[in-house]
Amino acid sequence: MAELRFSALREVFNRDPVKVTTPSKIVSEYFGENVFDLQKMEHYLSKEAYKVVKRAINEGKSLNRQEADQVATGLKAWAIGKGVTHYTHWFHPLTDGTAEKHDGFIEVGDNGQIVENFSGEVLVQSEPDASSFPSGGIRNTFEARGYTAWDVSSPVFIVGTTLCIPTIFVSYTGEALDYKAPLLKALSELDRAAVEVCQYFDKDVNKVIGTLGIEQEYFLIDEALYYARPDLMLAERTLMGHQSSKDQQLSDHYFGSIPERVMSFMEDFECESYKLGIPVKTRHNEVAPNQFECAPIFEEVNLAVDHNQLLMDIMKRVARKHKFRVLFHEKPFAGINGSGKHNNWSMATNTGVNLLSPGKNPKTNLQFLTFLVNVIKAVNDNNEVLRASVMNESNSYRLGGHEAPPTIISVFVGTYLTNMLENIARKVTDRKMTPAQKTELKLGIGKIPEILLDNTDRNRTSPFAFTGNRFEFRAVGSSANCSASMIVLNAAVAHQLTQFKKDVDLIIIKKGRNKDEAIFQVLKKYILESERVLFEGDGYSKEWHQEAQERGLSNIVSVPESISRYLTEKSRDVLIGTGIFTDKELESRVEVEYEKFTKKVQIEARVLGDLAINHIVPTAIRYMTSLLDNVKSLKEVFNDIEFERLAGARKEVIVTISDHISNIKKLVNEMIEERKKANVIEGSYKMALAYENNVKPYLEEIRTHIDKLELIVDNEIWPLPKYRELLFTR
Ligand code: ADP
Ligand code: MG
Repeated sequence: MAELRFSALREVFNRDPVKVTTPSKIVSEYFGENVFDLQKMEHYLSKEAYKVVKRAINEGKSLNRQEADQVATGLKAWAIGKGVTHYTHWFHPLTDGTAEKHDGFIEVGDNGQIVENFSGEVLVQSEPDASSFPSGGIRNTFEARGYTAWDVSSPVFIVGTTLCIPTIFVSYTGEALDYKAPLLKALSELDRAAVEVCQYFDKDVNKVIGTLGIEQEYFLIDEALYYARPDLMLAERTLMGHQSSKDQQLSDHYFGSIPERVMSFMEDFECESYKLGIPVKTRHNEVAPNQFECAPIFEEVNLAVDHNQLLMDIMKRVARKHKFRVLFHEKPFAGINGSGKHNNWSMATNTGVNLLSPGKNPKTNLQFLTFLVNVIKAVNDNNEVLRASVMNESNSYRLGGHEAPPTIISVFVGTYLTNMLENIARKVTDRKMTPAQKTELKLGIGKIPEILLDNTDRNRTSPFAFTGNRFEFRAVGSSANCSASMIVLNAAVAHQLTQFKKDVDLIIIKKGRNKDEAIFQVLKKYILESERVLFEGDGYSKEWHQEAQERGLSNIVSVPESISRYLTEKSRDVLIGTGIFTDKELESRVEVEYEKFTKKVQIEARVLGDLAINHIVPTAIRYMTSLLDNVKSLKEVFNDIEFERLAGARKEVIVTISDHISNIKKLVNEMIEERKKANVIEGSYKMALAYENNVKPYLEEIRTHIDKLELIVDNEIWPLPKYRELLFTR
């Protein structure tokens, strides 16, 4: 047994960094070389086809058959020139990963010979038999077909010898079975609603896009150690392991110099990312040992999400080449920092304005404040569904845990803006404003520093923080597909902006107030209504839990209960009322989430049970037996009095080990019984609740005994790599 652990370690020590061969040192020379972007379209498509695609991209339209044929011809020429033999529709099912089914270009030609073919028909639509993807009951097996349809706004790219076409994935009856379809709808809702509000300030605005920069945190573990940990292999997190005497206490890993082997991995995956047009820019060591982060330059939301999914895929692939495993799990190790995926989000207009960036004059600043306050109000009103969008089994170990945002969703804006909002709330009245009042208000907001970015205080403990020219949604988990949180956030803001327009227009029409006054009045109302969600203090503190409760902000730790908030009247209003989901789609999505949760706890419970009984208990017994033998020998050699003195400590250890073993066996059996009971419960919500309340707590309890044993049992026979090895060997 120990042989496995030590041979794994020997393997790690013998590794040299893999040499990376970059195609060229200058990134701009090969950036996007495997992407069929506008430049390549212009080169490979007819003038007419190019115009059509460009328009389709800008207007979010799809192509007709003839147009698609023209595009397909050019696309095929480009792809074959790059050695491509296959194509696939690339989509985001509700599994957290991406899916692909490859087809060759080859077909049998008229004379029976093999020819390469790629038509517009297969470019824009495909019909995978996708009956094994989670659908939450939408798709019956007799209508197992799903459709994928090209999302023209995300460019086609090449991985290896395969042409990948980003697509949406819908059922035969037209319901969304993926993340992309509703995301595109939410973004188009945001566009519509935000443009209408922008019109108050600038008539030239006719398009608003959501922008997103995704910071990706991850752990790296050597492959040999990974293979020696069945829990990492099967559950993606360690289900046991005593804390290392030293881990992150000294903060000596954060921003430290990047280890050579890791650097070589980073350079390699960055290079692969550049080829695919992913603008990764920042890399650094994170707080926990062996934890790292990479962040790209922000992009349009849909593209940013596609790129993040692709990036995770690339990282996993490249890591294997370097004999690493990359862990995207939110909490692979207990007791130290987990990993998040901070969603830096804002909105930008076709006129080049960032709507969450203060402007140069009172007018643009009023626009900035309008969007800022509407986002705050949206987060206040949709607090619970926002949490639902980030909550799942793996993230539940991180949220509220070590150095991670709590399960209370609050907004941080910094002292400067807090004062500004208070000022508006105090000074604006329902009565008609005097010219002097108006001037005072406008002067006030005219002074917002243009580069608030440098003046914002940072609060790392907030789940939703304003960081100078964007919001940072930090509760999103590192393994997540960001679509889930982006659908809800963009839909909520769109819904809110629509309401804002109505409220302002009503005051203009009914009360005859001018536009600015009406805007101020509505903003004041929203600020007062959202006060409870604004929190500047320490989100990690116990006091905040108490205060949040007094403020009426909910704090739901239970995963199924959190998820159920997708279905409140308010959430339905925002997600269904605006046409992003149908009732059936939303309900089935929630169903999928419950099932995912149950299955993940089930897997963890099984893995832990097996490891406990097959690895840990026998090892502990072995060590206990050697102690017993030792005690017996002492008895033979020494007289009674001497024996008592010498064997006392050993006997105590034997009893302790024996107690832990009995407890482990008892708890594992109880856990199995609870699983059996839970498995026959009707209804996925109730079953998930049973797993949350009756099964999940055993994971912690059992591990406590195992971790205690780890400290007692002879290091040489302990069957699993320990935290100090997993975290410090590379
Ligand atoms: P920090 O760790 O200090 O928060 P990073 O540099 O790691 O910052 O990440 C910041 C992210 O925010 C980057 O991806 C960046 O491109 C993104 N970002 C900057 N401005 C915007 C914006 N207007 N909209 C969306 N994302 C933005
Ligand atoms: Mg950040």
